[in-house]
Amino acid sequence: MENWQEILSKSIISPGDLPEEFRGDIPTLEKVVARYPMRINPYYLDLIQKVGTPLSRQAVPDAQELSDNVCLEDPLDEENLSPVPNLIHKYPDRVLFLVHSQCAMYCRFCTRKRKVGLDTMKISERTIKLGLQYLQNNKSVRDVLISGGDPLLLSNEKLEWILSSLRKIKHIEIIRIGSRVPCVLPMRITKKLVSILQKYHPLYINTHFNHPGEITKESSTACGLLADAGIPLGCQTVLLKGVNDNQETIKELMRSLLRIRVKPYYLFQGDMTKGTDHFRTKIETGLGIMRNLIGHTSGMAVPIFAVDAPKGGGKIPLVPQYVQKLDKNLVFNNYCGKTYTYVDGY
Ligand SMILES: *Cc1c(COP(=O)(O)O)cnc(C)c1O
Ligand code: SF4
Repeated sequence: MENWQEILSKSIISPGDLPEEFRGDIPTLEKVVARYPMRINPYYLDLIQKVGTPLSRQAVPDAQELSDNVCLEDPLDEENLSPVPNLIHKYPDRVLFLVHSQCAMYCRFCTRKRKVGLDTMKISERTIKLGLQYLQNNKSVRDVLISGGDPLLLSNEKLEWILSSLRKIKHIEIIRIGSRVPCVLPMRITKKLVSILQKYHPLYINTHFNHPGEITKESSTACGLLADAGIPLGCQTVLLKGVNDNQETIKELMRSLLRIRVKPYYLFQGDMTKGTDHFRTKIETGLGIMRNLIGHTSGMAVPIFAVDAPKGGGKIPLVPQYVQKLDKNLVFNNYCGKTYTYVDGY
């Protein structure tokens, strides 16, 4: 069997190499790709061809990426919240540490579209050392979330260097890895990689699936290997128009994730990222999806629906309205819309 580097090296990176059904207007798509790179690896291409539009929309460039006049380059104000390059310190006790600029597939809706896969995302041994130094000096940080790009595309050696350096910092309690690799290039989750990861517990992985068609034998095997190594797995799904913006698709996705031992963590409203306006849905769509999950299926299958506030305000949960009135009594609706009263405590 081919190894993951070989598979990745056979990715489609120019519009002219796309299969005919996705080719569109080549000169336009070339302009799109010059600004926002494309990478569709053979594994994900095969899935696209099996599942269709909900997957092709995530991976195939679209002329609309260049005509977005509503959204912002850096919607979460990450650059201004970085005390050192590629380390975002927004919340009191945790940071987001970007350690790799590449991904196994460039998602068209990416929040960090302004820089992933581009030369402008300057990550080097020097920036990583600066990040480590910052963490060493900031005792309030007890949770480090390493992301990118995709950290699991680093070589085993580089990744182990980062993990072991973080583990040497005594006040860091937990390490989290954000990675789409279990979904878009599951063959990267090798026994060797897992044997490295499990040396650095407590280590959590939050992966990213958006559609039930992404759950395959391969991704299930990858998640199984990670889970067997005691790595708790979560999923951060993005709500995307034409991909998963309906109640049944999300319910099926959340249930399928539990079957491969991944706990749904967040369901994100799309960020206001320049080049992704055509993916954004109405807030009410997400609330409707949540109403159709809560109570109607396992509580384990229910993620937190959240919007990440522009200008660095952080993630804010959006919850359907169950409370009708709260004074001496709580009057509230249940998931079926029936009304109940609870006498408040003291
Ligand atoms: C999302 C995010 C985190 C982690 O948030 P949790 O709600 O703890 O998962 C940390 N820092 C930044 C900058 C983030 O965007
Ligand atoms: S894998 Fe994550 S960081 Fe990479 S392009 Fe997709 S959403 Fe962006």
